[in-house]
Amino acid sequence: MKFGKTEKILAIACIIVSLMIGCGYVIDNNKSTTTSPETSNNASSTIEETPTNTYELQLIDGNYYVNGDEYLIVANKSHKLADGYEPSDLVEAGECSTGACYMRKEAASAYQSMKEDALNEGITLYFTSAYRSESYQNTLYNNYVANSSIEAADTFSSRPGYSDHQTGLALDFISLTDRNSDFDEEKFFHTVEGQWLYNNAYKYGFILRYPEGKEKITGYQYESWHYRYVGIDNALLVHNAGSNMSLEEVFNFSGGDYVE
Ligand code: ZN
Repeated sequence: MKFGKTEKILAIACIIVSLMIGCGYVIDNNKSTTTSPETSNNASSTIEETPTNTYELQLIDGNYYVNGDEYLIVANKSHKLADGYEPSDLVEAGECSTGACYMRKEAASAYQSMKEDALNEGITLYFTSAYRSESYQNTLYNNYVANSSIEAADTFSSRPGYSDHQTGLALDFISLTDRNSDFDEEKFFHTVEGQWLYNNAYKYGFILRYPEGKEKITGYQYESWHYRYVGIDNALLVHNAGSNMSLEEVFNFSGGDYVE
């Protein structure tokens, strides 16, 4: 009797196992019948044809623009501005600590709105540098090189013709509550002004141009103080793409290092 029971159990186990193997075999057969080489080739070519994004750089009058958008003009180590480029609509952007206080009209007005709203929340925004001409950038860059080296200067300063500041859309902020934080990425980020900008600037069309951890993509070290006007819709796209996304990543163009 004992032996008979075990035999029964073995028999049931055998049936279950063979059913499982049988089912697996059927499933495998189904797989092989539904994926013929022809159909799988078609599937992969469909995937390849799907566009990965809808952004492309357009070269207009010597400058690169994402989809021709005038506020998505590109200035980085891979994309030089047109020789001697100077925006035609520069206006006074407001009070600043140096003589370079001009921005393009729309960016300046966005900055004024942002400054007013920040002030209503008890934050006084202040900047030290906005538009910089190619010749001014030339002096600045050569001074940095003279005081350090080309390699060092290239990590934080642009060569003339490659500067985001030459677009008339960039601002370098400083904190009036902590002047020790000037151009110190960690210190400035933690000031009340730095925090307010990080959380609110996109609502006015400004983005953090050189985010932390994106040095190889943007070509520059993290700069918590450098904001760039791109327009509200574009800034929202960057904001919604995730934290610390760079302009290069969101709009799919190269940055990195100088070609020559
Ligand atoms: Zn800057």
